[in-house]
Amino acid sequence: MRDETYEHQVFALPGARPQYGPDKVVAVEEIDLHCTPHMDAESLDGICTLTLRALDEPVSRLALDAVDLEVLEVSAVANSHARPLAHAVRRGKLEVEFTPPIAPNAAERVRVRYRASKPRHGLFFVKPSAARPQTPAHVWTQSQDQYARYWFPCLDYPHEKQRTTTTIVVPKGTFALGNGELVERRDEDQHTVFRYRQEIPHSTYLMTLVAGPFVEVASGKAGKNAVPIYYYVLPGREADGERAFGNTSKMLDVFEERTGTPYPYPRYSQIAVSDFIFGGMENTAATTQTDRTLHDETAHLDFSSDPLVAHELAHQWFGNLLTCRDWEHAWLNEGFATFMEAVWREADLGRDEYLYDIFECLTFFLKEESERYRRPIVCNMFRDPIEIFDRHLYQKGAAVLHMLRGELGEARFWRALQRYVRTNAGKNVETIDLIRAIEEATGRNLRGFFAQWVYREGHPRLEVRVVWDPRRRVATVTVDQKQAIDAEHPAYEFDVEIELCGNGQQRRVSAHIEREHETVAVALDFEPALVRFDPGAFVLADVTYEFGAELSAAALSGDENVVGRIRAARELAKDGGRIARDALAEAFVRDEFWGVLAEAAAAAGATRAPWARELLISALEHRHPKVARAVATSLGNFRDAEVATALIKVASEARSYFVRAAALASLGKTRDPRAFDILAAAAKARTWNGTVEAGAMHGLAESADARALPIVADACRSGRDAGLRRAAIGALARLAELCEPERTRAVEELTTLLDDPNVLVVVEAIAAAEKLGDERFLPVLDRIATQAADGRARRDAVEAAIRIRKNAKAPVQVLGLRDDLNELREEQRKLQEKIESLARS
Ligand SMILES: [Zn+2]
Repeated sequence: MRDETYEHQVFALPGARPQYGPDKVVAVEEIDLHCTPHMDAESLDGICTLTLRALDEPVSRLALDAVDLEVLEVSAVANSHARPLAHAVRRGKLEVEFTPPIAPNAAERVRVRYRASKPRHGLFFVKPSAARPQTPAHVWTQSQDQYARYWFPCLDYPHEKQRTTTTIVVPKGTFALGNGELVERRDEDQHTVFRYRQEIPHSTYLMTLVAGPFVEVASGKAGKNAVPIYYYVLPGREADGERAFGNTSKMLDVFEERTGTPYPYPRYSQIAVSDFIFGGMENTAATTQTDRTLHDETAHLDFSSDPLVAHELAHQWFGNLLTCRDWEHAWLNEGFATFMEAVWREADLGRDEYLYDIFECLTFFLKEESERYRRPIVCNMFRDPIEIFDRHLYQKGAAVLHMLRGELGEARFWRALQRYVRTNAGKNVETIDLIRAIEEATGRNLRGFFAQWVYREGHPRLEVRVVWDPRRRVATVTVDQKQAIDAEHPAYEFDVEIELCGNGQQRRVSAHIEREHETVAVALDFEPALVRFDPGAFVLADVTYEFGAELSAAALSGDENVVGRIRAARELAKDGGRIARDALAEAFVRDEFWGVLAEAAAAAGATRAPWARELLISALEHRHPKVARAVATSLGNFRDAEVATALIKVASEARSYFVRAAALASLGKTRDPRAFDILAAAAKARTWNGTVEAGAMHGLAESADARALPIVADACRSGRDAGLRRAAIGALARLAELCEPERTRAVEELTTLLDDPNVLVVVEAIAAAEKLGDERFLPVLDRIATQAADGRARRDAVEAAIRIRKNAKAPVQVLGLRDDLNELREEQRKLQEKIESLARS
């Protein structure tokens, strides 16, 4: 728990300024794109014809976004006549002159013939390599957030929505995918021509082109309009594809029902590509998915592609049909898509899974807030839009929607959401449109709610206590807000329900919380045996119970809400007394929900107490692999031979890749003499996405054994599985932290990785560089910060460089003693506060 002591970095980086989006001079009615990709040359020949309509004033000049495109010809086309247009290319823009100007409300068709050669972004060519000879050559695009301009000229901003036609010419035998309906597929000599048409206007960041020897699998029809569902995989991955995408049609039915709006497009395709730089991208009607989500039967034991599939499918409504007007409102895309993942989980697996999904969102968001920065969800202070695609946008956004569901109640919430979708379908949206739809559908004015949870940064940290006074027969529930409160950051204001049960009776009260310290006194004619604070787990807060062991034990066994049980388990782990220990042990036998036990395992392990060690060893072979995984991870807190023996058994015998990986990682932490050989052997495994090997890498790093370095460094190199590489990069930094003499070698390896062609590897290497905090990284980080094509790499490099410089200037710099350093800083801060308060008085 360090979020009050941590010095929050400001979200806005140097050079960030408020972003308001461009003016609108024309409306683009249609983009007609004709593309011929060339695999060998890694280039694309394109003809992009834009139909522009002038608004209320004549247009004599227009600057299209076009980065690194070689423009060969620009002309105005009418019927079959083409008239050349004067144009210039400068600073990522194609400036076109119109003489005479386009008259108000008149349309002009502008045709641009161009070539994109070895593009830096937007268009990616995958080729077989010595390390991966079986991967066939294919090509894919990634246009979000502003990379469409790297593969065709356009007005590349989400407020510009247009109809599109995409014609793709590929060698015979190759498949090609574009947005919308397939309207033509014809063979010509050596080529096949695919033509796709997207009638409902959409933004350029949603445009796609994928081509390669993909296999088409028709996966039935779904929804009111019997939409055909397809997925595409490279040859040999059909069964893995079914495992990954098999639930798509069921999801589509659920989302139609919840949004009250039928799936808007004529078909839905998912195509799995190699080396994808995101998990998935919701290109309109034609989602691109990473092929890393394709998985075998063993992975399917405790891995599901459903969250990814549901997320991208939900975007077809939230993002594609209703598109954020400016990136600052991108939570209307991402927060909703993340929330809908949980909604699918609820429909498929039940309420417990839904609630735990939201709880995990909250956990993720809290971690970012405590370790990185704070910002409001709606925020326009950035340099690149991609910077705000963080856990505030996705996970906090989803948690806000869950809270809204509690605020409005089930029927009103869905009614409001359906109204929001119906009235804004096809349009651009801002947060105010959601507020208005809620108001129109329910009469509720939620401007205050949005001001607090969406436009204000931070969250409440609540401590909840319960005291029973048997003489007065009054239960007193106190709620303390522990976050920093001052004039600029007042206490949060919200309503919360509290349920008190005992003696076969039940009492529910609603409390209004608005002050730092609130007391709710409830007169009862029974002693409460079970207290449920916020029984729906709606409030977006970090809640700690201080109930006492008896009431928390009752909550762990009796609260039907999994979040209540998790909070109770955390209090019990901290308590560690006999009642607490018995209650936790009982839970591992009786609790039906894996998420509660996973959290209980983490909380118990964090205490490092002998009782916790016993409990975890006994639970290590739990029937649910996700419980076993958490238990194995938690055992990493103990360093002894018995724990190592138990972990060695699980590492070799468990069926689940993830359980084995967790056991290997913890085995390294035990520093047991047997560990190194086992880890080195496991590093040679070849499992799905390098999962087991990645566990071995973490274990090797934690072993602090210098012999690990060449193994970990080897796993970082290109040619190894991309997921394994990323894990190994983190491990390399950790190893160097623990093994000071290896530092220089690690710095050298990481410096090379900072220039890797795979941006996900680069991002991981930046994180590792920041962790090591070595000033030798600074020249490369500074270069990435200004020159990298990918906005994520640029952002992360700046953040890392700032932290490395800051730490270098810190008064105390003791390697390997970061915690002490933070404590010292905290001391300093407190002292400073004391001096200031003395000065005031
Ligand atoms: Zn998304």
